Amino acid sequence: MAHLAILGGGPGGYVAAVRARQLGAEVTLVEMDALGGTCLNRGCIPSKALLRSSELAQLSRRLGEFGVRAEVKGIDWPRMIERKTEVVSQVVRGVEFLMKKNDVRVVHGRGRLSGPKTIVVETGDGEEEVRADAVLLATGSVPARLPLPGFDGPGVLTSTELLDIDEIPQRLAIVGAGYVGVEFADVFNAVGSKVTIIEMMPQIVPTEDPEIAAELARAFRRRRIEAHTNARVSEVSDRDGAKVVRFTRDGEEKEVEADVILCAVGRWPNTDGIGLQEAGIEMDGRAVKVNGRMATSVPGVYACGDAIGGIMLAHVASGEGKVAVANALGKQAEMDYTAIPSVTYTHPEIGSVGLTEADARQRGIDVRVGRFFFRGAGKAVAEGSREGLVKVIVDAASGKVIGGQICGPHATDLIHEIVLAVYLGATAEEVGGMVHAHPTLMEPIMEAAEDALGMAIHK
Ligand code: NAD
Repeated sequence: MAHLAILGGGPGGYVAAVRARQLGAEVTLVEMDALGGTCLNRGCIPSKALLRSSELAQLSRRLGEFGVRAEVKGIDWPRMIERKTEVVSQVVRGVEFLMKKNDVRVVHGRGRLSGPKTIVVETGDGEEEVRADAVLLATGSVPARLPLPGFDGPGVLTSTELLDIDEIPQRLAIVGAGYVGVEFADVFNAVGSKVTIIEMMPQIVPTEDPEIAAELARAFRRRRIEAHTNARVSEVSDRDGAKVVRFTRDGEEKEVEADVILCAVGRWPNTDGIGLQEAGIEMDGRAVKVNGRMATSVPGVYACGDAIGGIMLAHVASGEGKVAVANALGKQAEMDYTAIPSVTYTHPEIGSVGLTEADARQRGIDVRVGRFFFRGAGKAVAEGSREGLVKVIVDAASGKVIGGQICGPHATDLIHEIVLAVYLGATAEEVGGMVHAHPTLMEPIMEAAEDALGMAIHK
């Protein structure tokens, strides 16, 4: 039986471990922390637990609008944090159970390559050597730091640290308005912090379509979240017990005073000190270099997830892990990135997949763009969630749906209809022609697909 050793038990490593067992391999998974990685312990799951609390806090302020009389006495932050911790523990236990059920041997400790197919693990009881036929590197990423004055001082936190803060800061400044930045802006605004965002690109959520980003920006403005875009930070300093972030915007020097600063400027592959250089593994900066089969430059060594850079998302790591394992165990598989959903859990949410209108035009594709606003859908109006829109991007020549973006209620779930369309190469006519249940939040997708053909009904 082939033996696969996996370094890192996040969504890349643990999913790969189960898949490798299903394919008949013996598997050793090396993890120095709790199973589940950043996503489960310090990222996606804890932030979603807090976002659920903050969503309820926001909704509680609107109860009168729905005819419900209730007195909300405020925010119990310690309970929110406690619930978040309970959620994380429960999901971690689920992953531990999965490893047992699938007979994956888990070795707890810090591991590093000591040869191309050997991992040495510093366990509580000394060193253990794991020899395998193939190795999968799935060591994830760490928050990026800004090499600017004051950014390494107290009061400047990473998302990991902010997830466990004891008290709600009165004023929170967030540097970077990517996924982490906007999700934390959403949480802390809802629990009462004065939130200011500082982003160097021209829009918040810079990788999203501008119309979609503008919807979120509008919602944030309504909630009095201040956002400075095109803003380049220069330093953090202290003044009268507060933190001051300085930045330049349109050539003008500005500053924001805050009690806590979140630095959310991306993540770096976690590849230091794990023996990659010694093993002769080719790198691309901090990232492990791989081909489409997830193979590194050293035969028998594969890598996946944030450690290889690229699209640093948990579900991508899992997909890459499965491809890596298939190849490591003698099958042929290639990673396909054409229909990868990206999801942002702000209120309203954002979901996107495939090409944006701008991406498509840049590639010289003649596109038709369908739009439908949620305010045109009965279900959204009934639910009191009228913000946002669906965009469907269609290749005019083939009629196929090549992308889609949604900002609105449940966008992170809804996007999967467009993911399926892009994945299977469905046409706008097919998506628009499929009968969608009424009244649902999915109807705007059908309408947007029909709109691309000039045939939307409720527009
Ligand atoms: P990110 O790369 O998504 O965003 C970082 C932002 O910081 C960018 O908008 C960038 O323009 C900005 N920035 C960089 N340097 C700056 C500077 N000097 N001044 C001002 N702005 C600056 O990274 P993130 O938001 O930290 O997220 C980290 C990782 O976690 C990402 O890989 C992301 O994909 C993942 N993540 C995903 C989700 C999700 O999908 N819902 C949620 C959270 C995190």
